[in-house]
Amino acid sequence: MATRTGAEIRSDQTHVFPRLLDLPYPSIDRGEGVWLHTADGRRILDACGGGAMVACLGHGRRDIVEASAAQGAEIAYIYYHQFTNEPQERLARRMLEVAAPGMARARFVTGGSEANEMALRLARAYHVERGEPGRWRFVSPAQAYHGATLATLALTGRSTLRQPYDPYLAEHLHLPPSTPRFDESGEEALAELDRLLEEAGPETVAAFLCEPVSAAALPAYSPPVPFWKGLAERREEHGFLVCFDEVVTGFGRTGSWFAADALPLEPDMVTFGKGLGAGYAPLAGVLCREHVYEAVASGSRNFEHGHTWDGAPQICAVGLAVLDALERERLVERVADRGPSLRDELASALAGYEIVREVRGRGFLLGIELVDPRDGESFLPERLAAAALVDSTALEHDLLVTSSHATPDGYAGDQTLLAPAFTSTDDELAEIVARVAATIGDAERRVKEDLET
Ligand code: PLP
Repeated sequence: MATRTGAEIRSDQTHVFPRLLDLPYPSIDRGEGVWLHTADGRRILDACGGGAMVACLGHGRRDIVEASAAQGAEIAYIYYHQFTNEPQERLARRMLEVAAPGMARARFVTGGSEANEMALRLARAYHVERGEPGRWRFVSPAQAYHGATLATLALTGRSTLRQPYDPYLAEHLHLPPSTPRFDESGEEALAELDRLLEEAGPETVAAFLCEPVSAAALPAYSPPVPFWKGLAERREEHGFLVCFDEVVTGFGRTGSWFAADALPLEPDMVTFGKGLGAGYAPLAGVLCREHVYEAVASGSRNFEHGHTWDGAPQICAVGLAVLDALERERLVERVADRGPSLRDELASALAGYEIVREVRGRGFLLGIELVDPRDGESFLPERLAAAALVDSTALEHDLLVTSSHATPDGYAGDQTLLAPAFTSTDDELAEIVARVAATIGDAERRVKEDLET
């Protein structure tokens, strides 16, 4: 077989092991701002940070590439076990000064799953160091995604993600989501949390981990304030830690440096990822408060958990350049200012469509909940694969969005997620809204035709 290069590549034309073997993958040559250019000359409007909510500064940023190249010219690589380096030191210091003043320490890794796995180990280490080795379980929402490693996969309750790997997954505890559909007040989720704590024994629970504002799992959804307050009370009473997965929301996506900044609860740990590298370097990590650090500092003085590329100078130099750009261009403020009107514009553009139940938005993280047009309420039948239909229809409109499929537990239906670059101009945002409306219009027509047959 000869490897083909060109517009679209199918699994029988490549030596790559693709994710979906029946999907032809468009080949992207280059990107500029919010535009992706395919090998055959198409321009795709990127409304989702390259597809995974990453490219928050857009594509083709010379300043970031140059910062990376300049640091790369200084040194190829050094291992964090033996050395530290100036970019890592500066990045940790500036992050704490600028973005996370309540946190005490940062540890860098190279991906969101690694960050959450590190948070898991750090929470465990915290309790072991303090003489409570019985604490190991995590509680997390069932409708969630926290990573692809076996430790982080165990933190979701979504059976479609877990299977067939269940035999490898630790038995953590999962809460049903307190969405308006199920539990508007958050009271049921708190009652379930109490029940789980009681059943498992609170002395076995190490931490509660969740996204403060959900990304792919329930786009732009955050539980109501009473839930957060109730969670804080239970942390106080039972002594577990609260870890926020801000792999998507960290560094400005929801209009504040961290989504946690807008909640009535201060997490003990926060993980971050995608946005700080902005697509120019694989950069992620964990931030923790003083008491978490102190448990190790006054105990074994050894938190051993790491990977080859953690804190590498070239990667951290990218993080510094991204942080500079976010500050200099006042992009977090821009997301905060522009996010609400963007949500309203999207909601009014989609107002007439019967497959849209709700448009949610927090900053530049937006979600569209799709429903059965026959009653405007039920989830769409699984056989329609509406999420995939929306994504492929969007590509027909030269638009990149990312949709998630209904979950068989009935907690969520098909949903579409938008995460435009913070640097998108007003014209580009208007174009995104117009193309999303055209996409949803076409998808609705196809869904209705399918439902009639
Ligand atoms: N946490 C959340 C909320 C995510 O959305 C993701 C990835 O999409 C991850 C963790 C895992 O990050 P990574 O794919 O970088 O390992």
